[in-house]
Amino acid sequence: MAQLILKNVYKRYDGQKKKMFKKKKKKENDFAVKDVSYECQDGEFIGILGPSGCGKSTTLRMVAGLEKITAGEIYIGDVLINDLQPKDRNIGLAFEDYALYPPLSIYENLAFNMRAKKKKEDEIKKAIEYVAPLMKIDDLLDMKPSALSGGQKQRVNIARAIVRRPGLLLLDEPLSHLDGKMRQQLRQEIKRMHHEIKCTTIIVTHDQMEAMSLADRIVIMKEGEIQQIGTPLEVYDDPANEFVAGFIGEPPMNLMPSVIEKQGDKYMFTFEGSELQVEVPKRYNKVVKDKMKVILGVRPVDVLIAEEEVSSTPVPVAVYENLGDERRISVRVGEMLLSMTTPEDVYYETGQNVQLVFHEERTHLFDPETGGRIKV
Ligand code: ADP
Ligand code: MG
Repeated sequence: MAQLILKNVYKRYDGQKKKMFKKKKKKENDFAVKDVSYECQDGEFIGILGPSGCGKSTTLRMVAGLEKITAGEIYIGDVLINDLQPKDRNIGLAFEDYALYPPLSIYENLAFNMRAKKKKEDEIKKAIEYVAPLMKIDDLLDMKPSALSGGQKQRVNIARAIVRRPGLLLLDEPLSHLDGKMRQQLRQEIKRMHHEIKCTTIIVTHDQMEAMSLADRIVIMKEGEIQQIGTPLEVYDDPANEFVAGFIGEPPMNLMPSVIEKQGDKYMFTFEGSELQVEVPKRYNKVVKDKMKVILGVRPVDVLIAEEEVSSTPVPVAVYENLGDERRISVRVGEMLLSMTTPEDVYYETGQNVQLVFHEERTHLFDPETGGRIKV
C-alpha cells in the first residue's frame, strides 16, 4: 500500500518549449501539466478525469516514472521518487493498449515479469492462482492472446498489472477500446477487484460515468490544470466552475447566459430573445445586482414542466425523446435549447407551449468572464 503525493508538478515536453519562444502569448498552454498537486490515501481509488489532451496520461506517466518531471515533487509514502527508476517504484501499470506477448500463453504472459526477476516457480504459480479468479481469467490461462476477445485481453492486462501485488496500480483508459456492455461489466470487475485487494489505484479516463462509478475521489483536469478534486457527489452537487459543471452529468448541465433584472424587491433571470423570466433564488440576493451578466447552471433533472397553470411565461417544446426509462425534452429559450429529463411517462408535441418550474435550490451561478462559481 502506498500513499501518493504530487506537489506542484509541471511537465513541459521539448516541442512545447519551442512553441513558447515562437508564440509568447500562448504561454499558459505550453505545459502539458501545470502545477498539479494532490494526495491519494492508502487504498484510495482516484479517477483522473478530463477531455482528451488535458494532461491525464502525462500525469500518470510521471507517477510511473516513464516521463521526466519538469518541476515539482512526487512522493510515495515519505520517499521522494522523482529520480527513481520505474522498476523500483513498486507500481503496476495497465494501458488501453494491452501489448500482450502473442507467442506466449496467458499464463506465461502473467509470469513474464516475475520470471525476469528470477522468482521461484511455486511463487509465480501462487501469484497467478490468486489473480486469475480475481479477474475471471482462470479458463484462459492455456490460451494464446490471439484467441481472446478485447474484453478478455484487457482482463489479462489488468491481471498482469496486479499479479506482483504492487503498492500502486495505475490504469490509463483501460476500458476505452471496449464496447458498451463489456465496458460496464469490466468496470464492475475493476471495482470488485479493488475492493478485494485494496491497492491504491489511479484510473485515467475521459468518461465521466467511469470516473463517477469507480473513484472514491475524482481529480478533474483541463488544459494541464486541476479544476476540482472531490468525491463524485461533491463534483456533481458542488462544481467549482463552469467547466466542471458542464463536464459532469449526462445529459450535461444547462448553462444559460442570462442578464439579471431587478423588478421591485425581486431579481429575475432574463434570457436574450425570450420572454421567459425566472426568479433568482433569494439566497443570491447579496451577490447579484441589476443588469449583472451571469451563467445560470441548472441540471436537466432540476427543471420541471408545470402540470397546472403557473405564472411562468410559456416556452415551446423543440425536441421530445422517449428513451424508455426516461423522457428527454428540450425547450426553446431565445436561441438556446434548455434540456430536461423526467422519469414520468409524459408526452409533448414539438411546438407545444409548456411552463417551466426550476428547482431553485439546485441552481448554480457562474461568472461569464472567468467561469468561476459565484458563491453565496
Ligand atoms: P490526455 O491523456 O489527457 O489525453 P496527454 O497527457 O497525453 O493528454 O497530453 C497532454 C498534452 O501533452 C497534449 O497537448 C499532448 O499533445 C502533449 N503531449 C503528450 N505527449 C507528448 C510528447 N511525447 N511530446 C510532446 N507533446 C506531448
Ligand atoms: Mg491519455
